[in-house]
Amino acid sequence: MLDILIIGGGPIGLACALEAKKAGLSYLIVEKGTLVNSLYNYPAGMTFFSTSEKLEIGGVPFVSNSIKPTRAESLEYYRRVLTSNELNIHLFEAVLHQQRKDDHYEITTTKAVYLAKNIIIATGFYDVPVKMNIPGEELPKVRHYYKDPHFYSLQKVVVVGASNSSVDAALETFRKGAEVTMVIRKDDISDRVKYWVRPDIINRIKEGTIKAYYHSHLTTIRENEVDIQTPEGLIAIPNDFVLALTGYQPDFTFLKTMGITLSADEKLLPEYNAETMETNQKGIYLAGVVCGGMNTHLWFIENSRVHAEQIIAAISKQTAKVS
Ligand code: FAD
Repeated sequence: MLDILIIGGGPIGLACALEAKKAGLSYLIVEKGTLVNSLYNYPAGMTFFSTSEKLEIGGVPFVSNSIKPTRAESLEYYRRVLTSNELNIHLFEAVLHQQRKDDHYEITTTKAVYLAKNIIIATGFYDVPVKMNIPGEELPKVRHYYKDPHFYSLQKVVVVGASNSSVDAALETFRKGAEVTMVIRKDDISDRVKYWVRPDIINRIKEGTIKAYYHSHLTTIRENEVDIQTPEGLIAIPNDFVLALTGYQPDFTFLKTMGITLSADEKLLPEYNAETMETNQKGIYLAGVVCGGMNTHLWFIENSRVHAEQIIAAISKQTAKVS
């Protein structure tokens, strides 16, 4: 029987494993994809907005070439943290559900059944895109994940949104020769966009090399065109690809399957104790960015890595009481 089963091998799942190991608790991380799967799936040329020391876990130094590390450097860092600490992890194995037994949980995955006294859910928010729910969204030319700009060279690309992901995609594809049109709900580029990138996009829009429709949204996507509702009325423009970078959300179905209560409002905040991170289910804890519900901008690696210490302190206290 494990002391802890950790669901998710992202930065925060790994931070929990490091703390558990330090505290002498038995644990296993179960990760449905590759190691740090979300980071692996980020845009290839992505740079973090955090400085490298703010992405460190377990006190292991993160050395990067520039102040802000790249995705590639982060993959190296987290892999080295895992291997040099010999953390226990099973990759390409998804957790499906749990069943409460007397004083422990029986956890079923795609490959096995495990028994654990506690569960930490560190499943992030990058697996479920927020959909636009418009006709044509299911066409293969519509992408909710953006990887690499070269693919879009010489193509007519619509980028939906005005966040970091949208702005990076618009600038990168524009610089590889795409004809880029941004469709933005509000009246400006988000003020959360990286401070060193924001002037670049604003100037490209001002000079007209990237077209932007503000106070606008897509209404229909067709094979060779899209319809945009603008303040001046509905317009149709020729189009080859749509990058719908409209955000991501935690897998709420999975959280409910695990028995976690969600708030009744549109934020769908999972219920947990902010001190111990224990949820409404005794012995099930939440860690990392999954805690924010639909407010996915609230938690980062920077401010959620501390969850690992909070949870392991609570579990250690509980374990000491029982023994
Ligand atoms: P994740 O890294 O998402 O890890 C969750 C893991 O759980 C995934 O590997 C997933 O495959 C796995 N999983 C999910 N469901 C299951 C299941 N049922 N069974 C098994 N495994 C499962 N934060 C910062 O602090 N600084 C930054 O500069 C920064 N930049 C960002 C840039 C982008 C483009 C994005 C999207 C986010 C950024 N963030 C940043 C936010 C934060 O880094 C990420 O969200 C980070 O990945 C959160 O870590 P996590 O461990 O909580 O979740």
